[in-house]
Amino acid sequence: MSSSFSNLQLAEPLARAVAEMGYESMTPIQAEAIPVVLTGRDVMGAAQTGTGKTAAFSLPLLQRLLKHENSSTSPARHPVRALVLLPTRELADQVAQQVKMYAKYTKLRSAVVFGGIDMKPQTAELKRGVEVLVATPGRLLDHIEAKNAVLNQVEYVVLDEADRMLDIGFLPDLQRILSFLPKQRTTLLFSATFSPEIKRLANSYLQDPVTVEVARPNETASTVEQHFYSVVDDDKRRALRQIVRAKGISQAFVFVNSKLGCARLARSLERDGLKTTALHGDKSQDERLKALAAFKAGEVDLLVATDVAARGLDIKDVPAVFNFDVPFNAEDYVHRIGRTGRAGASGLAVTFVSGGNDARLVSDIEKLLKRKIEVEPMEFEEDRPRGRINDGRRTWRERGELGDPRDVMDGTPPPPRPRPAARPAPSADPFFDRPYEPPAATSAPAPSKSEPEPVQSRVSANIKTKRKVAALFKSAG
Ligand code: AMP
Repeated sequence: MSSSFSNLQLAEPLARAVAEMGYESMTPIQAEAIPVVLTGRDVMGAAQTGTGKTAAFSLPLLQRLLKHENSSTSPARHPVRALVLLPTRELADQVAQQVKMYAKYTKLRSAVVFGGIDMKPQTAELKRGVEVLVATPGRLLDHIEAKNAVLNQVEYVVLDEADRMLDIGFLPDLQRILSFLPKQRTTLLFSATFSPEIKRLANSYLQDPVTVEVARPNETASTVEQHFYSVVDDDKRRALRQIVRAKGISQAFVFVNSKLGCARLARSLERDGLKTTALHGDKSQDERLKALAAFKAGEVDLLVATDVAARGLDIKDVPAVFNFDVPFNAEDYVHRIGRTGRAGASGLAVTFVSGGNDARLVSDIEKLLKRKIEVEPMEFEEDRPRGRINDGRRTWRERGELGDPRDVMDGTPPPPRPRPAARPAPSADPFFDRPYEPPAATSAPAPSKSEPEPVQSRVSANIKTKRKVAALFKSAG
């Protein structure tokens, strides 16, 4: 299958928009999905954010909607024809921005609605009429109930990040929304992973779907070096600092399981001298955007995040990912480490395992990945035994996970001896040696430090509002 956009014979306005985006060739999911969507078949797509899947469904949808294009000012001539549902406000906003760019040379209108902000501007936009509506389920239902959104002429529905929509508990909302749509329609479902619940959803709402799969679900990129270290909770920060230093890691994501833990860890790492920012559901939209802009601009080294908060981020290729906490859902492990090692670049994923419940969570990951995970002992440089009677370099495991690593020292000052050089030299991998650059085509270029990027330049008018949006993800994160 050719990966050139020119082989698709997209209508000129769409081809022009794609050329303007600077895309040279299709990504694998685009090469697979676009021709299928162009035929009008239902699609079940296994793809993560960052694979180019927004264009994979938007471009063929827009192409098929071109027959409805018109410049009438009458709202009745612009009914909703395509509905794109996403689990989070930020994802909805990102997708809506992309759709707007692809449709910019057509007369098709698009809009986005999500909660947490005033409904009035959204209502006004809906009342003027839009062909493509991007929405989060809760707010869309509000608009349906207020009769601002009429969905009886919808021809296409996209359920994007379907697994996450179910995680957040959107299933009842989704079912209600789908009940408002005509039976005769095309449904496209995208999900990073295919749990039994997703398969059930697909079976009930998709008709004879074509499965489009680029990386097998639940598979992690082979370019990611994965390590699991046994570390007691109190030593995790020290372990993180040591790995960052030893590997010369310029920037990393640090994932934690709770909002509280997220804020606390970010503060502690900052005290440790690492430039750190936190991203979790209790931060206002404005704070989250600032944190993101600072990370993209290279002003912070570590972005500490919860799974849900990280879901909406257009940051897809960081040199390293730390799982400070083993994720509660094995599938989140795949999502988390999917942030590194993309597009053939090497990436590092480090998971700290601290006993207790973690062993069970690691075995869940093993089952999902269908491979054995070796939990390695974490050796701290400053704990290397110096001058013990038997000079025994006891491993972490030998010392017992719960014991204080310093208790192997015998109290008397050791005779001077050179520090062991057993530690591998910092990576000579050129990828780690150069500063992290956000992928050029996927995000706005990082501004130079002397010209800070206006924090809100990437977001739509909906998010640009000065209003602070509290608790973006109330249900989790
Ligand atoms: P998505 O997976 O849809 O969130 O897309 C991730 C990023 O890839 C977006 O910032 C897109 O602008 C970008 N992108 C999509 N398709 C292509 C392509 N064919 N070539 C280069 N970049 C692309």
